[in-house]
Amino acid sequence: KQYLEESSERKRLYNENIELKGNIRVFCRCRPLNQADLANGCASVVEFDGSHENELQLLSTDSSKKHFKFDHVFKPEDGQETVFGQTKPIVTSVLDGYNVCIFAYGQTGTGKTFTMEGTPENRGVNYRTLEELFRSSENRSRLMKFELSVSMLEVYNEKIRDLLVDKSSQPPKKLEVKQSAEGTQEVPGLVEAQVFNTDEVWDLLKRGYCVRSVGSTAANEQSSRSHCLLRVTVKGENLINGQRTRSHLWLVDLAGSERVGKVEVEGERLKESQFINKSLSALGDVISALASKTSHIPYRNSKLTHMLQNSLGGDCKTLMFVQISPSSADQGETLCSLNFASRVRGIESGPARKQA
Ligand code: ADP
Repeated sequence: KQYLEESSERKRLYNENIELKGNIRVFCRCRPLNQADLANGCASVVEFDGSHENELQLLSTDSSKKHFKFDHVFKPEDGQETVFGQTKPIVTSVLDGYNVCIFAYGQTGTGKTFTMEGTPENRGVNYRTLEELFRSSENRSRLMKFELSVSMLEVYNEKIRDLLVDKSSQPPKKLEVKQSAEGTQEVPGLVEAQVFNTDEVWDLLKRGYCVRSVGSTAANEQSSRSHCLLRVTVKGENLINGQRTRSHLWLVDLAGSERVGKVEVEGERLKESQFINKSLSALGDVISALASKTSHIPYRNSKLTHMLQNSLGGDCKTLMFVQISPSSADQGETLCSLNFASRVRGIESGPARKQA
């Protein structure tokens, strides 16, 4: 009974929240200045507002300031736990049957992988999410039975690569997005590994990260130019009324959003950057179309958005981390990322807030 009451209260708050704020959230996270920034004499051009946790200002090259507002702004000193604290309610809603997508967007080197994957000592959103799902599902175990499984894949040049497939025993299959008989988008043949505890999760994640980075050294840091997706499938069964649910949570470390320099734009790099531009702008178009409640949502313009179609829009929840660098050396890219994120959220950026 307590569970049913809690669940209906969660749904009520959730529906109230949608009416107030919609289903799309944008969090901004700024990394600390690093050794290279300091060695090159670069200073911070990002200012935080002590009294507004969701605002920041970017100093422009002409010394004017541009003001941005998101659903939350994380400062360089905010750790993984603080970030996950704000993310937790969104990820756990997958247990209530909602589809959820979380993206890390930004220039290479701004902490997308740090936020999602983290380091072994300082784990990121991916691992913490699974840990939290096990904890929450245990808390509900008298009334709900949950089964969790994970898939890991990479999209590089519009091709899908399974990161969990055992290459020594199976030749790689060509993976495509296909529509199922129920009308949902699926990737037939993708490995889906059931997990029972966090140790198994960590082993799988390490395996996937390793497959990704081994490929990337050979192809000149390809990993920053591919999208890495972790998909968690949650199957639930209500032990009281027998109702079953199946939902997906996608955790996506996107390819670097930086514009490539003119000198480098030829051959493979040109092709890669065209694919990245295409898929990142397709993602921006889909989310902003959803935010503005447009009737046509252009999911089919990239493999990424097509694959995520059932988890973007409707009553699905979307969270985008826009990752930025505080350094004066990255000012131009930072402005592009902040503008992209504002457009996605349908929030206009403005001139600097007047000091009281
Ligand atoms: P990206 O995935 O965007 O290319 P990375 O996650 O690889 O960037 O981050 C680049 C470097 O900066 C890494 O060494 C990472 O550990 C460090 N870093 C990024 N964000 C933070 C942060 N918030 N706090 C501490 N170190 C960070």
